[in-house]
Amino acid sequence: MENNNADMGLNPMEVPQGGSSGYIDCRDVASKLYDFLDGELTDDKREAIKRHLDHCAPCIEVFEFEADLKKLVANKCQEKVPETLRQRIASVISIEASVISMEKDSKRFSTDTSPDLDIN
Ligand SMILES: [Zn+2]
Repeated sequence: MENNNADMGLNPMEVPQGGSSGYIDCRDVASKLYDFLDGELTDDKREAIKRHLDHCAPCIEVFEFEADLKKLVANKCQEKVPETLRQRIASVISIEASVISMEKDSKRFSTDTSPDLDIN
């Protein structure tokens, strides 16, 4: 009974260990994000994801981005999906991706290389 002090010394965070019931990680959130947004999850899963989002800033960012995008697309779909919009979104995403990879590749170029967004 002398080992009780060990618990006092170490103060682990309140993370459930071992049992995987109710606990999900970032991958689970990402893979279930669309089901969550579509309301196709059980209450248990929804609660688990909400709990994860409370503590995980990166997942909140992704979640809010996807939620906004979904709303945007839903609104646009009610009217008529403009091809230009989809192309613009796709091109912006690819431009950002290439800019990021450029920054990784060569930091010698100045920030003068701003991409041209002039699309018709
Ligand atoms: Zn996360």
